[in-house]
Amino acid sequence: MIAALFAAKSGKKVRLIDGNEQVGRKLLVTGSGRANLTNQRMEASRYSCADVIWMETLLKRFGHAELIAFLREIGVLTFSTSDGWCYPVSESALTVVEAFACALRLAGVEMVLNTKVITISKSKEGFHLDLSTGATITANQLIVAAGGKAYPTLGSRGELFASLKKLGHSITPLVPALAPVTCEMNPWKALSGLRFDARASLYENNNLLAETTGNLILTQWGLNGPAVMDLSHHISTRPNAKLELRLNPLFNSEAELRDLIARKRSADTPLRILLGSVLPPKLSPVLIARAGYPLEVLINELNDEQTEKVIKIALAMPFKVTGVRGFEYCQVTAGGVPIREVDPMNMRSRSVPGLALVGETLDVVGPCGGYNLQFAFSSGALAGMDA
Ligand SMILES: Cc1cc2nc3c(=O)[nH]c(=O)nc-3n(C[C@H](O)[C@H](O)[C@H](O)COP(=O)(O)OP(=O)(O)OC[C@H]3O[C@@H](n4cnc5c(N)ncnc54)[C@H](O)[C@@H]3O)c2cc1C
Repeated sequence: MIAALFAAKSGKKVRLIDGNEQVGRKLLVTGSGRANLTNQRMEASRYSCADVIWMETLLKRFGHAELIAFLREIGVLTFSTSDGWCYPVSESALTVVEAFACALRLAGVEMVLNTKVITISKSKEGFHLDLSTGATITANQLIVAAGGKAYPTLGSRGELFASLKKLGHSITPLVPALAPVTCEMNPWKALSGLRFDARASLYENNNLLAETTGNLILTQWGLNGPAVMDLSHHISTRPNAKLELRLNPLFNSEAELRDLIARKRSADTPLRILLGSVLPPKLSPVLIARAGYPLEVLINELNDEQTEKVIKIALAMPFKVTGVRGFEYCQVTAGGVPIREVDPMNMRSRSVPGLALVGETLDVVGPCGGYNLQFAFSSGALAGMDA
């Protein structure tokens, strides 16, 4: 949508083809219907991609500020939460999609909806797009913004990767990213449904692979929420690895808890009450049971070493990872066309003249917090300007 809008500014004839009946179908469900459009703390280093300089170049040309200004221009005002996540003031993705649809109409973009591109080929006349309607469209410039395979019911099923391969691009394996993580939950089943903030650390054979901090929820099958979703591509890209997730719900309250325990050392206070000063109520009894103590054990019944045992469990609650949930449940696709095959100044394919590739079709994963939409918008805008 953003690519079509920028391309239309040049006065060229622009067609936007989408298999869905309406534009922006995925945008509509982002941020749980509120559309987390970008992040005030946008940084190239937060993306998992092959080359941070490539991402820096792209974001310097069209980054957070440029996106906010563009959105304002089409009638979308934004605000940021204290942690930098940006949403429309309306807190409704629908208003954003409607603003895009209106801007596309006013810019004279021809909309070809409910129409799938089956194959793309190229001759000296240009690109030939075979459509699901039976028609073939020819164009001298083509921007592929077809997404990856995440959430296929919303339109992106990875169908065009075969054509991109035929045109000469490589495709790195497509796996789910920003996905819920499946784990052996038996040891923690009493905590099912519990949501809290934690530091989540992913280990392979005791070596730290990646770490995040954020909100998460324990379920019967595993863990969900931004903190673990941000780690999921490290799991889906290592299908045979032995992985362990360790959660630390004391990541920002350990010192306070230790201080409180030291002050209450000889009191008749149950350990559960002291742990409850910084942890959700459901969590403390489970940690005490895991240490092997009675639920109502008093702090003055435990020596320093015994108290330390409980704290140590809370600092690194271990979960054996069994995998991630599939494309139907994930927000982004890891894999796709490698970024080195595209110029970050204008998103032009380095091997196919006239072709530009943007958004999730490329092998880029951003963390939760508006990074993936920002990348889709930034790359789309640059390709549109260039076209
Ligand atoms: C549930 C959910 C919530 C999310 N929330 C957020 C969020 O709050 N913030 C954030 O930054 N990111 C979020 N994301 C990720 C974000 O939505 C994507 O990264 C972004 O939409 C990618 O944009 P895109 O244009 O590259 O691909 P898409 O948005 O997937 O768009 C691709 C379009 O191409 C069309 N298409 C595909 N193949 C064909 C074909 N063969 N013929 C015709 N048309 C075709 C599809 O119909 C689709 O409309 C979320 C994703 C999901 C699934």
